[in-house]
Amino acid sequence: MSADNHEARPPKRSRTEDTPRQSSAATPLDLDNFQCHEEFWFDDGSIVLIAQQKTGFRVYRALLTAQSTIFADMFTSSSPSAEEMIEGCPVVHLSDTPEDIAHLLRVLLPKSQRLLYSRKSILSFHQLSAIIRLSHKYHVQDVLDQAVEYLQTHFTSTFDAWTSNTALRVPLFSARHAIGVVNLARLIDRPALLPIAFYRCAQLGGDVVSGYRREDKTVEYLRRRDLRRCIDGRNELAEQAASVLAEVFGNAYPCDACVRRERCAIALLNLSARMVADEFVSEVDVLTSWAGRIEEWAEDLDLCEPCRRAVITQDRRARRQVWDDLPTIFGLTVEGWAASEDEDETTDPDTP
Ligand SMILES: [Zn+2]
Repeated sequence: MSADNHEARPPKRSRTEDTPRQSSAATPLDLDNFQCHEEFWFDDGSIVLIAQQKTGFRVYRALLTAQSTIFADMFTSSSPSAEEMIEGCPVVHLSDTPEDIAHLLRVLLPKSQRLLYSRKSILSFHQLSAIIRLSHKYHVQDVLDQAVEYLQTHFTSTFDAWTSNTALRVPLFSARHAIGVVNLARLIDRPALLPIAFYRCAQLGGDVVSGYRREDKTVEYLRRRDLRRCIDGRNELAEQAASVLAEVFGNAYPCDACVRRERCAIALLNLSARMVADEFVSEVDVLTSWAGRIEEWAEDLDLCEPCRRAVITQDRRARRQVWDDLPTIFGLTVEGWAASEDEDETTDPDTP
């Protein structure tokens, strides 16, 4: 805030380039490096938010006040007479990055993509991460809830969702974003997001220590104790992989409903041999189903239909066991994990 009450008079600004501002007023702002945000500088805006001393957002005070009690408190706690002013607007300094603030403002003050309802929104991880962190920080609860719900569709806490295609596809997320998801879950205290976030981190191998690069080029890492959880969990998954494979492929006996036992006994042995020779056999991605390969091999090897189904059921059951153990594998406590949906055990996997 300025000691005097002179208004910083900004130079003409351009909408297409970021123009440094000049001013003779003594303010803590480094006006040589100050930029108006291209997207959020409204001529009739009533407050200027300044991100990290460098980027200004001229927006509408009353609209932000109505949506965030934290913004409301910040705006009222500073007396206008004591404030530095830009183009007649009081100034509020924020420690957040300009990228993060822009993501939040696109939700709070949308200029496009006004949605009445959509089930098919596709968000980048940067968007989602910024919206979760800032809506948490500024107490915009309904936005936070929606963002977390979106994240949960990809970092699910239910085995059924995991085994459906939607859980496996993570649009616009990269593998390393799982690191960010662990940190988000810690920040907002949503432990149900953690098992799959850690599971995905564990798949990164050594890359997990390199963190992931945020939009502002800073790098976000797992906290030390979470990194340890990840590494220990990866070792545990590798150990469990062998027993999962043994459970899925180790049964050399045709099922009770088998329609041609001799042929199926040979086919099951060959199925097991194919698994051993498979290039993915040593991976720690034990929650990924073998069902696709089983279907393919069963057809090649002429396994009967009931035996094929029995192997698919074993695959699901073995992975379900790992799923139930995930919190333990990563040293987590997640209330209610694996408490439901046990009808899977009795449901024929072929039943839609
Ligand atoms: Zn059979």
